[in-house]
Amino acid sequence: MQSVIIEQLQQSLNKMNIPYRRNEKLSRYTTFRIGGPCTFLIAPRDSKQVISVLLLLNGLERILQCPIKHTVIGNGSNILAPDEGYDGVVIWLSRNFSQLTLTNNNCILATAGTPLLQVCHFAQLHGLSGLEFAYGIPGTVGGAVYMNAGAYGGEMKDVVVRTTHTDYEGKVSNLQRKDFDFGYRHSVYTDHPDWTILSVLIKLTPDDPAKIKETMNDYMSRRQAKQPLEYPSAGSTFKRPEGAYAGALIEQCGLKGLRVGGAEVSQKHAGFVINVDHATARDVRQLVRKVAETVEKETGYELEPELLFLR
Ligand SMILES: Cc1cc2nc3c(=O)[nH]c(=O)nc-3n(C[C@H](O)[C@H](O)[C@H](O)COP(=O)(O)OP(=O)(O)OC[C@H]3O[C@@H](n4cnc5c(N)ncnc54)[C@H](O)[C@@H]3O)c2cc1C
Repeated sequence: MQSVIIEQLQQSLNKMNIPYRRNEKLSRYTTFRIGGPCTFLIAPRDSKQVISVLLLLNGLERILQCPIKHTVIGNGSNILAPDEGYDGVVIWLSRNFSQLTLTNNNCILATAGTPLLQVCHFAQLHGLSGLEFAYGIPGTVGGAVYMNAGAYGGEMKDVVVRTTHTDYEGKVSNLQRKDFDFGYRHSVYTDHPDWTILSVLIKLTPDDPAKIKETMNDYMSRRQAKQPLEYPSAGSTFKRPEGAYAGALIEQCGLKGLRVGGAEVSQKHAGFVINVDHATARDVRQLVRKVAETVEKETGYELEPELLFLR
């Protein structure tokens, strides 16, 4: 990034009192624990600050006639960040941007950076059912809507009734159910990476808090039993192909334990690539490629990564 952009950004962020860090390693912000430094990691505290950051980047691009690479991340639980780092701005919408409000009609309003885990606990405490499936998915609400995260027969699409986002020009819009275009690990946001989700309204159904807790605990125990949660990863590496399960196909090809550098196909769950020993992004990419090639050759199924590659 050009030094004039760095100086301008620093000055403006200081003036607006928006938290940021320089040259932060992305390995600290991804559950894979992989990734080199980004030029700026900006951590807005509210929607106004998110919009200010986007307007700032947009304005600098126009004045300096030069694109500024930027991206939004949540908890980084579905991302592989490059070893060489990210020469641009990462807008981190996570812990700093986390707030929950109980609203009318059994709804919960969550800012995009709120961890799903926190929303699940909040819903349970208030005797609201419908989000139990998400207990244990280590993402933020924003990341979960973007991906239409799901598990155990539930998906974000079942509970999200409204979202608020901003575009790169700072225009704020609300979307409703008919607009979301939710599909398997897909939403309208997947098709509009320039839209940043600010908040999400979730509608749930009243139920017995003890029953909700029991279901949540059951899902968590199943995760602990089946998934290699003791190692850094980004969850399921591949999407589920039509008519099969990625993990089962990988296991069938005898690829459990296959290793490239510090990355390994988990012995516990073949659907997970895990970071067993200081894996690099390059290790993971090579392993993902090897697995997909072998599975296609031996079974005919084409595996598509669910993991997103930050570039
Ligand atoms: C151990 C483990 C288990 C997992 N289990 C599941 C599971 O059961 N089901 C499942 O679906 N997933 C699962 N995942 C994957 C992951 O947790 C989900 O995809 C989650 O929804 C990602 O959320 P995030 O906040 O970490 O997003 P990130 O990984 O940070 O980002 C993912 C994408 O969302 C975009 N994004 C994030 N926040 C915003 C925002 N505010 N506005 C616009 N775009 C945004 C990013 O730009 C990126 O493209 C698992 C991961 C791990 C590590």
